[in-house]
Parts: sequence; structure tokens; C-alpha cells
Amino acid sequence: MKFGGTSVGDVAAFDRVAGIVASQSERNPVVVVVSAMTKVTDTLLAAFDLAKNGKYDDAIETLEPHFQRHLEVKEHFCGAGKIGGFLTELQFARAELSDLLMRTLRRSLPLPMLRDAIVSYGEQLSSRLLCDVLESKGIENEHLDARRIIVTDDEFGAAQPIWGETKPLACSAVRNALAYKNVVVMGGFIAANRAGETTTLGRGGSDYSAALIASAIEADELQIWTDVTGVMTCDPRICPEARTIPVLSYEEAAELAYFGAKVLHPKTIKPAVDSSIPVRVCNTFYPEETGTMIVGISGEAPNKIKSIAHKKNITILRITSARMLGAYGFMSAVFQVFDRHRTVIDVISTSEVSVALTLDNTESLDRVVEDLRRLGDVEVESGYAVICVVGEGLRASTGLAAKIFSTVADVNIALVSHGASAVNLTFVVKENDAAKVISRLHNAFF
Ligand code: ADP
Ligand code: ASP
Ligand code: MG
Repeated sequence: MKFGGTSVGDVAAFDRVAGIVASQSERNPVVVVVSAMTKVTDTLLAAFDLAKNGKYDDAIETLEPHFQRHLEVKEHFCGAGKIGGFLTELQFARAELSDLLMRTLRRSLPLPMLRDAIVSYGEQLSSRLLCDVLESKGIENEHLDARRIIVTDDEFGAAQPIWGETKPLACSAVRNALAYKNVVVMGGFIAANRAGETTTLGRGGSDYSAALIASAIEADELQIWTDVTGVMTCDPRICPEARTIPVLSYEEAAELAYFGAKVLHPKTIKPAVDSSIPVRVCNTFYPEETGTMIVGISGEAPNKIKSIAHKKNITILRITSARMLGAYGFMSAVFQVFDRHRTVIDVISTSEVSVALTLDNTESLDRVVEDLRRLGDVEVESGYAVICVVGEGLRASTGLAAKIFSTVADVNIALVSHGASAVNLTFVVKENDAAKVISRLHNAFF
């Protein structure tokens, strides 16, 4: 069971989580993977930036209200007189964070390493706090430090788990703990490299942690508890009429997650698919509502789409070169540039003499463009959004693409990609048009 940040925002939220864990653990042993309390990750990352820019005192000051939020929850459930253990934990975190922020200011360790060490305190504290809250309700549990269980490479900020080492470690640690306690609690998002240095799995990575653990212990089910009822027909923040999708295939869920449906981390599905574990997405605020089940095959509804995802802040790169005409090796040269600068390409479309592709991470854009200019003319355009229409129904559809595009006939479409995955149709529009395009499609299809 993974509980996201909004599910552990305050006293009422912790109370709801404890209720849900209590009712499930009566029936089955459970592993609870928890995110940092709402806004804590953002605050820690901002504190790191402040310290990096010389504002150490400001950085320290921004953290204090969040320490207090943790204490409030602790006091509420355990009583003011019984906060000792957690207070020690908190004081340790405070001291460690001020040391890490000072090192950030002085650049005394590599910055990406410091950033992960700092941001990990969100999950370190929330998981300890949840243990105490459960304990106060008579739910016996065991805390496990995710950093001793999930082993990753050295890519701080977006570390890749080393499965061959993680699986046996996670399996034995969790099974040993479950042998004498019915509930195991751990923080999501955080891990460690082989040297034992703290790493993180990327923003929203607690979903991924939970999936890794579920897969390692061959869980019967993976439950993602969040602030909406399942995966919906589109982001409810864009379209209030969005509805819950009862069943999704792994492939559909993966496409949606990859193209911006924030409810699932893009990497979540892979470990679940590999171990054929069904994934359920549920609402912490309305636990009785049936959310979404994600399973191997969702059943194809011909010519029906399931959901519309989108991702903003997209940059388009167009590379045009006469050298491409009838030549081999050109694409390979293009891809090598992205490989060299560790830049991920999202959508791609090609013609005889040009390639257009989209990026959502532009950290190395200048260097990428400089290298690409050796291959041809390069145009860079920012301010776009990727819209991704997903459904098994697209597999063998006739006229569906026509219906999609006629719905947005008056909008300029910068790039289209279809066919690489049988279950999605992806196109790129100006960011300002995204909300309009999504609502129109939603009205037309749902
Ligand atoms: P958590 O803190 O539980 O991990 P997130 O904020 O990461 O929660 O993800 C939940 C949010 O994802 C929802 O509040 C919703 O706004 C957003 N979202 C985007 N697309 C979808 C979708 N298709 N279905 C449901 N939620 C979506
Ligand atoms: N706390 C982390 C984040 O906000 C991980 C997560 O919530 O999944 O990105
Ligand atoms: Mg999330």
C-alpha cells in the first residue's frame, strides 16, 4: 500500500491512513510505503537551492514550519508527554540538515549527492511518524529503512535500482519483518547506491518504490492510495467532469503515466508487469469508492478511447539536413548526441530530410543544439504541450484519428506520432491551446 504526499498532509490525513491500514491488515499482512508529508519535498529542494545560492539562513528558516507540522501530528496521536523518541529523530534530522545545507553552501561534497541526502529527510521523517501514529492506534508495525533495501546506481536525482541486488535484499528484509509484525512501514522515493550514499528515484518516485517492493516480495496486489479516485479520463484539475476508469491494461497505464498522468509514476508499472501483480489505484479520502484496477488485459472496446494525458513545458527540436536523404547512419548520429548529453526524447517524427522531436528536460539543450548543428540546420521552439490519447480501442480502429483531429480542427498541430505503441495517439500543440484541446476531446469522447 503506497500513500502519497496528499494522503499524509495533516492530522486528519494520518488518521484516515491509519484507518485504511487497520482494516486491510486485519485480513492480510501489508507493507506500507509512504511519501513525504505534502509540500515537504518541494520545501527541502527549495532549501537546497537557497543554500546553493548563498542563502543558508533562509534555507534553515523555511524548514522549521515543516518540523512543527510533524510534531503536531505526533502530539495529536501520542499526547504531548510522549513525543520523546520522535523528538530525538526530529532533532537529529534538524542537525543533519543544517550540516548538509552548510556543505551545500561551501560545495564540500558533490551537489547532486547533497541534494538527494537533503530531500530524503521528507520520507525519513514521514515514515517514522506513520509508525508512531499506527502504534498509537494499537497497530503493531516495523519500520524498515528503504536505503538499506533498494540498491541503485549513482545517478543522483533519478537513480536506477539494481534489481539483482535489490530483489533478494528487499525480499528477505520484508519477509523477516512480516514474520512477526503484520505491518511493515518504509519511506518511498529514497534508496542508496552501493557505497551506501542516499539516492532518490526521481520526483513522484514513491510509486516506483512500492512497485519494486511489491515485485520483490511477490505481493498479491499493489495499491496506490492518492487524492483522486483512480486513474481518470483526464486530469480532474483540467476537466472537472473527468471520470474514473474502472479497468486499464498495463500498456494503457504505462502510456498515460509516461505522458503526464501524474497519478502514476512512469516507471511504476514495469515491476508490476514483470511479476504480473495487479495494481489498484484508490482514494484515501473516499476509501469505499472503487478506483482503477490495472491488469494484464483490459478488454478492447473498439473505437473507444480510455483517457487523455498531457505534459506541458515541452520543447520541439527540428533537425533538417539534405545529407539525410537516402543516407544511413544519420539517425544514429542524431541519437548519439542525445545519448552523450543524457537527454531523453519523448516524441519523434521523421520525414525524408528532417527529424522533429520533443524534450521535456532542457538542462543540456545548448550543448545538444551545438552538437546537432554539425549534422544539419536546427530549430528550437519552446512552449508546447504533448497530448496523448490512450486506449486499447486504438489498436484496430477506423476513423478514430479522424474524429480526434476533426475535434481540434482549428488548432495548429505541431507534430503527430502514432503507431509506435498500438494504444496511443500522441500530438503536440502550443501550451496555450492544451486546456482547450483536452476539454474538447473530453467532451467529444466521454
Ligand atoms: P500523490 O501525492 O498521491 O502521489 P500525485 O499528486 O502525484 O499524488 O498524483 C495525483 C494527482 O494526479 C491528482 O490529484 C490529479 O490532479 C493528477 N492527475 C493527472 N492526470 C490524472 C488522471 N488521468 N487521473 C487521475 N489523476 C490525474
Ligand atoms: N516525495 C517525493 C516527491 O514529492 C516522492 C513522492 O511523493 O512520490 O516527489
Ligand atoms: Mg505521486
